[in-house]
Amino acid sequence: TVKGDVHDIGKNIVGVVLACNNYEVIDLGVMVSCEKILAAAREHGVDMVGLSGLITPSLEEMAHVAREMEREGFDLPLLIGGATTSKAHTAVKIAPHYSKDVVHVLDASRAVTVASSLKSARADFGAANRAEQQRLREAHAKKRAEKPLLPLDEARRRRPRLDWESYVPPVPGFLGARAEDVPLAELVPYIDWTPFFVTWELRGTYPKIFENPQWGAKAKELFDDGQKLLAELVSGGELKARAAWGFWPANAVGEDIELYTDETRGHVAAEVHTLRQQMDKGEGEANLALADFVAPRESGKADYLGAFAITAGLGLDAIVARFETDHDDYRSILAKALADRLAEAGAEWLHQRARRAWGYEAGSPLDVLALIREQYRGIRPAPGYPACPDHTAKRTLFELLQAEERAGIRLTESLAMTPAASVSGWFLSHPQAKYFNVGLLERDQVKDYQRRRGLPLREIERWLAPHLGYEAE
Ligand code: SAH
Repeated sequence: TVKGDVHDIGKNIVGVVLACNNYEVIDLGVMVSCEKILAAAREHGVDMVGLSGLITPSLEEMAHVAREMEREGFDLPLLIGGATTSKAHTAVKIAPHYSKDVVHVLDASRAVTVASSLKSARADFGAANRAEQQRLREAHAKKRAEKPLLPLDEARRRRPRLDWESYVPPVPGFLGARAEDVPLAELVPYIDWTPFFVTWELRGTYPKIFENPQWGAKAKELFDDGQKLLAELVSGGELKARAAWGFWPANAVGEDIELYTDETRGHVAAEVHTLRQQMDKGEGEANLALADFVAPRESGKADYLGAFAITAGLGLDAIVARFETDHDDYRSILAKALADRLAEAGAEWLHQRARRAWGYEAGSPLDVLALIREQYRGIRPAPGYPACPDHTAKRTLFELLQAEERAGIRLTESLAMTPAASVSGWFLSHPQAKYFNVGLLERDQVKDYQRRRGLPLREIERWLAPHLGYEAE
């Protein structure tokens, strides 16, 4: 797992699958620098190097490793994997930096095929891969040329116009940040099990997945093992969940959301800078920015923004280390996957509490299915995700919440949260607030954003790399 990234469940599964097929895997762990990866490749005389990562900044780190392999004259194939990686990204952003084979590996089940193709029929496999990447690069360039982005002014003109006149913003029951020890047992009913199966590359919705003629039985076995370990984790007392959450008086100023120290709204405690869609959706469709869903300052309405960070991974390392000492890869991966599930469940649990604290959701709580389907008012966009792709917002979020002190969550240099089983984000209460993808950005907006954000252009372009609709210098 590359520098700055802490996610390794998928990679561990790839490792187990390869090992079962007689490959020797040297797993360097998480947050591994390029130098360390390349030194280990030399030392062990490996046949191929694989890079894994989950968060978008890891894509840049992978491109860096590719450049270094070229510079140092490596001859080994480079395998690319992880949730935010893709065939197209590998073709456009990574492969051009390294003249040897660079292959995107979609999932663990593909890893063995790719590895054996590279070992045996290297020449034609490499040629086919190269030809496909060339085709993907051309398709990518064509798509760009055919779909120019709107100038920022025009995108702003097409912003949604919410009716603030008649709107009464809900007032949260408290202001500022709070810490919370979260009993794991409370989170269990909030678990969304479907992504648990996705982790193991078993497709299907829980609980219908058990009826799948091909892998239903496998899914059931995995689920039962998961339940058993979950019960142990919950009663064991070693794994802990903690959260920090709170509310601030807030108003929008353009695409910025100002958070104030108190109700007088005279002092800005922090600013959340949001980005606006610039794709041409047609005149009738609004170009969205998250700030559109917070009452503008000029509306005179007293609106609020919530923030949260929750982890269910405190104490997990020690538990996992014991499984690894016993060479129990299965339970080690299972424990990590369960901690992830508990963290996501924790976000759902906390969001429910936030809606109640905000006073706009009362009565008997929604059932789990309604929660999973997000059948409630408001959203909790997470920095680094499509509506707010800039991971640096997590610095603002963490400072506001004092998430490290209050919840025990730290940010890595790539702004991944550690423990990995952590979730953070903003709470927006407006009934029309929704998730969207910011998509590609034009230089005009990136420059405007960079000024508002107060960070060097190069740095901002690096953080926003997957969203740049132009070639950065
Ligand atoms: N039930 C799922 C929930 C997580 S995915 C699970 O257990 O895994 C949904 C979460 O991802 C949202 O609550 C939000 O925090 C984040 N998210 C999804 N789409 C987003 C977007 N377009 N922009 C920002 N955050 C998004």
